[in-house]
Amino acid sequence: MRNTAVKLLTEKFLDLLFPSRCPVCGRILAPDEHMICRKCRKDLPWVREPVCQRCGKPISDPERAYCADCARVDHMYTEGRSALLYEKGVRLSVSRMKFYNHREYIPFYAACLLRAGRPYLASWRVRCIIPIPMHPRKRAERGFDQTVLLARQLSGLSGIPVLEDCLIRVRYTKASRKLGREHRLKNLRGAFQVRKGRKIPQPVLLLDDIYTTGTTMDYAAGALRAAGVKEIFFLTLCTGRGAE
Ligand SMILES: [Zn+2]
Ligand SMILES: [Zn+2]
Repeated sequence: MRNTAVKLLTEKFLDLLFPSRCPVCGRILAPDEHMICRKCRKDLPWVREPVCQRCGKPISDPERAYCADCARVDHMYTEGRSALLYEKGVRLSVSRMKFYNHREYIPFYAACLLRAGRPYLASWRVRCIIPIPMHPRKRAERGFDQTVLLARQLSGLSGIPVLEDCLIRVRYTKASRKLGREHRLKNLRGAFQVRKGRKIPQPVLLLDDIYTTGTTMDYAAGALRAAGVKEIFFLTLCTGRGAE
């Protein structure tokens, strides 16, 4: 009883010192706001149908099944979806989470992943979550790996176990955002491996923060395939719009 009272008081005190802020706009949350402020909640850029049936990027023509990329290039994964568009406030917020160590955003973004991913997790029947790993050196530089933290939270919310150390990043790669497709492919070749002797229950859910061209996802899925995994789905927090 006494412990509970002390705990509550401590929480109240910490709230005064470090009030919860909206992860998107940074405003201090009102007592009746949960995780995100009312305005940003209303404006969240959820990925909406129609989407590419392969990579999950939004497309404008509901008659088409695939975006221009997926119609042209085959992927190493089966299918995937994303929760939010990588735009405006969300783009800045996710960058703050990654580069300025805002780990307190993780529960909010894991809740977004669950909300958007729930119907797919059920229909894909995934049996484990595998976070796309950072290279250990990059992780040491940054101090944490946001994708692993997101995977753990999503696991807690969904009950699907995380396999943390089975897919590993064996090569340190440059940030590939600014590279063209050919360079990206070269940059990531051989970047991932599955640890020997690991049993991986299928289907697998690969998890990442952002899907851009799909190169990273393809190489990670390729490493899983080389280890005998055939059913590979993915969920990412953010995605861009599909090429038309
Ligand atoms: Zn806000
Ligand atoms: Zn696509």
